[in-house]
Amino acid sequence: MTVANPTILKRLNNNHKILISIIKLIKDLAFILYPNYCRSCGLILDNTNEIICFECRLQLPFTDFHELSDNPVERLFYGRIPLFSATAMFRFRKEGSIQVILHSLKYHNDPKIGVVLGRQYGLILREEPRFNTCTMILPVPLHPQRERKRGYNQSLKFAEGLSQSMGIPVYSDILVKQIKTETQTRKSAFKRWENVKTVFSLLSSERLANQHVLLVDDVITTGSTLESCAQLLMNESNCSISIASIALAGHSF
Ligand SMILES: [Zn+2]
Repeated sequence: MTVANPTILKRLNNNHKILISIIKLIKDLAFILYPNYCRSCGLILDNTNEIICFECRLQLPFTDFHELSDNPVERLFYGRIPLFSATAMFRFRKEGSIQVILHSLKYHNDPKIGVVLGRQYGLILREEPRFNTCTMILPVPLHPQRERKRGYNQSLKFAEGLSQSMGIPVYSDILVKQIKTETQTRKSAFKRWENVKTVFSLLSSERLANQHVLLVDDVITTGSTLESCAQLLMNESNCSISIASIALAGHSF
């Protein structure tokens, strides 16, 4: 029987402790560089929570609209566009937690918020008969200049999360926003500027044939953006359309 040399054992033990300290240091450093904090209350999160802490999640204003036909989102579009189903994940109220979270998504270079919320909502929608027949996801495009400045389209990030959980593809190259300039050579520079318009366009609309499209936006207020997009989809193809957004704002419900 060999007896371990106590000096070697002690050295191994010390090496192990040094290794653990180094790993801890790297973790702490990574945390400083990429902090995992609650986007609602600012508390540091442990590894079991993503984006929002457990306490804040309990307070979030979930709507459960996905379960209800004739819900406030669907009512908003009555008489404007025929929809298969429509929902919003949260109610948006000024000064509320969703405003704080969406502000970070849009202005604090934090695209992960969109992906995580989409992933969570996708788990719910894939079990919901009103939404689980969707075959593709199209995000509402951003103005190209704004997307360049922000670095990402927040609606596409939400769509990517939904896609991961629902198991259906997301396409950001079918519904696009283009800048169209009318040729007005004799008009003044200001008048020409006035004639620069951004419009939604469909590229390769044949891909929409017989599809059930889930049209996705970040916040619904008047619904006019989604209405323009849905109108375009309906005019150019025979797809059916549903809508999902992160939040519904400005309505009493
Ligand atoms: Zn929190």
